[in-house]
Amino acid sequence: MGYDSSNIFAKIVRGEIPCDKVYEDDHVLAFRDINPQTPTHVLVIPKGEYQSYVDFSQQASDLEILAFTRAVGRIASDLGLDEPGYRIIANHGRDARQEVPHFHLHICGGEDMGRMIK
Ligand code: IMP
Repeated sequence: MGYDSSNIFAKIVRGEIPCDKVYEDDHVLAFRDINPQTPTHVLVIPKGEYQSYVDFSQQASDLEILAFTRAVGRIASDLGLDEPGYRIIANHGRDARQEVPHFHLHICGGEDMGRMIK
């Protein structure tokens, strides 16, 4: 199945829906999750149209991948999460309950999350 550009994150990238933005550059957008699971819960997305981690890692340009991976660490750092730490999560597909079909990473922190992903 191809990328569905009617998904909510695509609308956020196009500026059709507002978001609580924490970071933006030419390739990357990060905003607070509308239903936070931890005291700090930010979503980082590439602006390009990729449904999943696999699509992003296989189809994005080197520049997009570099910009995205560097931005994730910088955003977490700017959020003050370097110490005591944070968790980065990517849900892929049905069993992981990926809700939004636009690749995104969750940055979660601000509390002890235990040893397992919830
Ligand atoms: P997924 O299960 O990895 O796809 O997570 C999607 C996330 O997007 C969930 O944590 C939702 O709370 C979040 N979300 C859905 N719609 C919005 C929105 O409009 N703004 C911010 N976060 C959203």
